[in-house]
Amino acid sequence: MAEFRIALIPGDGIGPEVVGEACLVLDAVGRRHGHSFRYESVLAGGCALDATGEPLPAATLKTCQESDAVLLGAVGGWKWDVLPGNLRPERALLGLRSGLGLYANLRPATLHPALAAACPLRADIAALGIDVVFVRELTGGMYFGERGRRQGKYGLEGYDTEAYGVGEIERIARVGFELARKRRRKLTSVDKANVLESSRVWREVVVRVAAEYPDVALDHMYVDNASMQLIRRPSDFDVCVTTNMFGDILSDEAGQITGSIGMLPSASLGDPGKPGMYEPVHGSAPDIAGQDKANPLATILSTAMMLRLSFGLDEEADAIERAVTAVLSSGARTADIRLAGDAAAPIGTRAMGRLVVQHLA
Ligand code: NAD
Repeated sequence: MAEFRIALIPGDGIGPEVVGEACLVLDAVGRRHGHSFRYESVLAGGCALDATGEPLPAATLKTCQESDAVLLGAVGGWKWDVLPGNLRPERALLGLRSGLGLYANLRPATLHPALAAACPLRADIAALGIDVVFVRELTGGMYFGERGRRQGKYGLEGYDTEAYGVGEIERIARVGFELARKRRRKLTSVDKANVLESSRVWREVVVRVAAEYPDVALDHMYVDNASMQLIRRPSDFDVCVTTNMFGDILSDEAGQITGSIGMLPSASLGDPGKPGMYEPVHGSAPDIAGQDKANPLATILSTAMMLRLSFGLDEEADAIERAVTAVLSSGARTADIRLAGDAAAPIGTRAMGRLVVQHLA
């Protein structure tokens, strides 16, 4: 029986509620497929600040580094919003990313057929389906480049620098190609090579790495065009690899066209063999915390990504995704994915989690 060590960071707000349901689903998958998941629950975010004075205690990072994967709920909340930047719960996320060397952020945007009516695009576009994964570079580019203020032609100016090195581009490109290989073998690299030098280097390197993946079809798209094509013909996209800033914006756009934030999972990966971190895209939703209203499906779908990407358990990951699809097809809805006119009353976090367990084949 294979055993996997998972560091659990329930965090704040709805985090503990959605992580609790995800663990029930993982345990049920483990029982069916002969694996065991050993959890070690650790503090990060606001609850860690309250208990230890730090958003990311050293012991938490150590446990995460020694685990096979990390499952995070969400951190933050109104209570801590008044604290200075270095003591904000969200600091824990930056510390986890750098401490675990997570440089690739994977965000799937999938339109579940049962939720097609929630898609803000035209029905004929939604009918073609949406199933795209954004691979966003997470530790470089303008968000981490040289920045400052200086005197310029028009007075005081602020500046930020976009710079990408060959090694940085190679490793994120490989994540994109490897993922495309497991899917429809189509990779779109998004850049702005008609204007930016950093994008021209990006494109050169991606083309070079493509030679290692002759079975994957590569195309390039300028970021402005990509933002249009995503709403014009989203079904054409499979895997998109792009920079930190372009990925930040485009992955939110892609998420939005698939419906509720409560449905969006994510993975952050570092070098192969190192623990990845899996979390829903949403935050701690303090407005509904503790009320059994949160949709746990984003976190449950994040565990499917964990099984597939960190543990190589493809069949088990498929089983979770199939169960979620079956539950949605049955008409069960938490309040966030319920449309006006839906017949059934909304169900709570716990009922939704248990339905997924029941639908596991
Ligand atoms: P949010 O994602 O927490 O909430 C936005 C809206 O979506 C709210 O109305 C909320 O009720 C709803 N929502 C979110 N998740 C839901 C779910 N699973 N089911 C049903 N409805 C859901 O974003 P926010 O309000 O901007 O941020 C709240 C706190 O979370 C802030 O402190 C913020 O910094 C933090 N945050 C944390 C993370 C993270 O931990 N990764 C990410 C984003 C925001």
